[in-house]
Amino acid sequence: MAILSSDFSSPAMVADTRGRHLRDLRISVTDRCNFRCTYCMPKEVYGRDFQFLERSQLLSFDEINRLVGIFKHHGVEKVRITGGEPLVRRQLERLIEMLAQDPSLDLTLTTNASLLKQKARLLKDAGLNRITVSLDSLDEAMFRAMNDVDFPVAKVLAGIEEADRVGLNPIKINMVVKRGVNDCAAVDMARHFKGSGHILRFIEFMDVGHTNGWQMEHVVPSRELAKRIDKVFPIEPTQPNYIGEVAERWRYKDGSGEIGFISSVTQAFCRDCTRTRLSAEGSVYTCLFATRGSDLRSLLRSGASDEQISDVIANIWRTRSDNYSEVRTAETAKLRKVEMSYIGG
Ligand code: SAM
Ligand code: SF4
Ligand code: SF4
Repeated sequence: MAILSSDFSSPAMVADTRGRHLRDLRISVTDRCNFRCTYCMPKEVYGRDFQFLERSQLLSFDEINRLVGIFKHHGVEKVRITGGEPLVRRQLERLIEMLAQDPSLDLTLTTNASLLKQKARLLKDAGLNRITVSLDSLDEAMFRAMNDVDFPVAKVLAGIEEADRVGLNPIKINMVVKRGVNDCAAVDMARHFKGSGHILRFIEFMDVGHTNGWQMEHVVPSRELAKRIDKVFPIEPTQPNYIGEVAERWRYKDGSGEIGFISSVTQAFCRDCTRTRLSAEGSVYTCLFATRGSDLRSLLRSGASDEQISDVIANIWRTRSDNYSEVRTAETAKLRKVEMSYIGG
């Protein structure tokens, strides 16, 4: 019989084989998305015939909530809801409400913001703390080509505005930078969000999955981008908020805010990686670049107790040795890795 998560009164922190503890859990609530960003879900692969997960294959909100209770026992303090596009999952605010029952949990969500204007108030009222919005350019033609469904910039900006208005802030804005595609839009993005209170973060284009045609030549190293920004708006590095922070923080010298660089390719941060990922169908992936996951859904659905599931999670983490970004080569980039839209960013 399942025991209640409150029975896990003392946390059982487990270190992996590199001495890292588990702190962050990213939960994909759907593998579906209404965008077809060329670097994530290229249309040639995710076309009309693509078989997405059936509803019955997805973890229910109760199942997710139960697993989060067990993950917290192992040290998880921060949960990020992601996807696919998390806001296309119906009544997502119900899940937020369940998870927000624990006020000590840092609860955030990453979205393409296409549905954010309608959903922001519901999410805030349900107890969501903050939000991260993906936006790759302010240039209309460039953005529409990158999302590949002709989605306009204005609607994303309206979503950001509404999220800010209802208090889902500070808002982080993620821009994936791909050389020759949108790197020329970086300074404009900096100009737009400078002084807004939102934190723009530039993400190096990564070799996640195996369908996005990644090549090293497409990556703009953060160092190069920082120099480009600095020429127009002088910036300087600043202290991380906490050990293991993914984004390197920089601030504008004129005091008008900060920006971040996520340099998974050119400056690996595996050493402090405390993240794990739960796919929409309930498999755990201990690295963004994993080729295999561990199924928890069958355990959940076969009547395993919280203690049994907890032991399995502890074992997965204890035996973890991931450091993909430290050992990336042109060859590893071709491996059949799990897709980002499946496990979330
Ligand atoms: N659909 C939501 C969104 O786009 O915000 C959440 C899921 S998306 C997979 C999470 C993040 O991964 C987004 O910020 C997206 O830009 C980023 N991402 C997707 N593919 C990427 C890639 N190949 N390299 C770097 N970042 C990527
Ligand atoms: Fe969808 Fe997000 Fe992937 Fe774009 S990055 S295709 S919005 S899941
Ligand atoms: Fe963590 Fe894997 Fe990324 Fe390294 S490559 S930081 S281990 S998710």
